[in-house]
Amino acid sequence: MLNYDVVVVGGGLAGLTAANLLAREGKKVVVLEKSSRLGGRGITNDKNGVLMNLGPHGLYMSGDAAHIFTELGISLPGGNAVTAIHGILNHDVHIIPTDFSTIMSSTLLSWKDKFMFSKLMLKIMKLNIDSIPEVSLMEWADSEISNPMVRHIFYSICRLTTYTNVPALQLAKPALRQVKRSLKSDVLYVDGGWETIVQKLKKQAEAYGVEILTNKNVSSIEHHEQYQIIQCLDGTVFTVPDCIVAAPPKEAMNMINGSEHTSLRLWNEQAIPITACCLDIGIKKLPNPQHQFAIGLDQALFFTNQSRAAKLSEDGTLVVSIAKHHNPMEEINVTSDKQQLESVMDLLHPNWRKEVVVQQFLSKLTVMHDFPHVKRKEYPGPSIPEMNGIFIAGDWAGHEEVLADAAVASGKRAAQEVLKTNKVLLEKEG
Ligand SMILES: Cc1cc2nc3c(=O)[nH]c(=O)nc-3n(C[C@H](O)[C@H](O)[C@H](O)COP(=O)(O)OP(=O)(O)OC[C@H]3O[C@@H](n4cnc5c(N)ncnc54)[C@H](O)[C@@H]3O)c2cc1C
Repeated sequence: MLNYDVVVVGGGLAGLTAANLLAREGKKVVVLEKSSRLGGRGITNDKNGVLMNLGPHGLYMSGDAAHIFTELGISLPGGNAVTAIHGILNHDVHIIPTDFSTIMSSTLLSWKDKFMFSKLMLKIMKLNIDSIPEVSLMEWADSEISNPMVRHIFYSICRLTTYTNVPALQLAKPALRQVKRSLKSDVLYVDGGWETIVQKLKKQAEAYGVEILTNKNVSSIEHHEQYQIIQCLDGTVFTVPDCIVAAPPKEAMNMINGSEHTSLRLWNEQAIPITACCLDIGIKKLPNPQHQFAIGLDQALFFTNQSRAAKLSEDGTLVVSIAKHHNPMEEINVTSDKQQLESVMDLLHPNWRKEVVVQQFLSKLTVMHDFPHVKRKEYPGPSIPEMNGIFIAGDWAGHEEVLADAAVASGKRAAQEVLKTNKVLLEKEG
């Protein structure tokens, strides 16, 4: 098949973004997605009319993803997630001081600690992120925060905003950028869940002429200097000048023949996946309506009622989620993880089980296939330098961005790189 300029492998946010940006500039693009549905980890499950993302999902409105969606003319319905924040410590629930009235009422901190915490938050809000040196989050916190309780709260905010629970490895700069965004109450919960984002990207891509094929599992990519041969498990073959692989790093390694001799090998070896377990619950009402949002101070988890800001059911069922951030250096115990999530629900919302309509427990989800950390020697992509015409994208290919911002920004970088070289179809060349 020689009808396309670019094959995009993977129909998650990264692949769909790249496809949109390329087709907008007149490229003939086909997206090959191995699953029967588009969206990757951005899908939303419809459980009898109750819409559940894969764990809690919020979009940073000043982040790269939101900016690029706007650039594509995609507007997202939903609400701002701002609410009072509770902290869980020693099996007790406290209010976290975030404004004047909560500073006055919080029992979590002494007056001296409250002053230190407010000072830190003000400092982060004014921080020039670009001036932060290449140090780990732990190094930054050790040098900037002397008060142990304030440091505790700071780390839990970092976990919340980056989903990452390994401050000794995490780079300070990207983490602080996320914290700064969260302090500006910048998070959108999307009506209909993140499926709305996926469907809007799909619709826009199709309007630009992108062909989207599901159930197309790419098994191999053969690199040639002027063209790439992409083979699917069902026998379909595409020959194109350029190919963007928007699949996870291991899959990318496996499908690209000879990738063990390229930079992709290093990027894959350096990748540290971040995982989480999540309990998403469709619930008739919250037993304690005051507890809309809570973060663990001595446990790496958080609870949120996504329905406070987004429409996720027709009949008023609320969708709440509780997630535990795994430490990538520690063993995962699925049974105790589930018990931990349920016991936090017991603490925040006694008798919650009586109100449950539907639930999904996801024991280990990869939140990011890599993140900005001190062991990473170089940013992955967008080009594979040793393979002209093959590009990579995905949340593991961030250049300081994290989460969906990394996925979408890397999709844009890959598309821009393809457009820069601007190769034409072999057929057109004659
Ligand atoms: C629990 C959880 C909570 C999260 N919360 C947030 C949040 O609050 N805010 C935020 O910004 N981000 C959040 N994220 C992260 C966000 O969901 C991801 O970063 C983003 O969806 C990743 O998009 P992607 O395109 O890089 O990868 P994916 O979504 O994984 O897409 C890759 C696609 O490639 C396809 N593929 C793989 N191999 C092949 C092959 N051989 N052939 C064809 N197709 C293939 C896959 O099927 C998949 O569809 C969260 C993620 C999780 C799991």
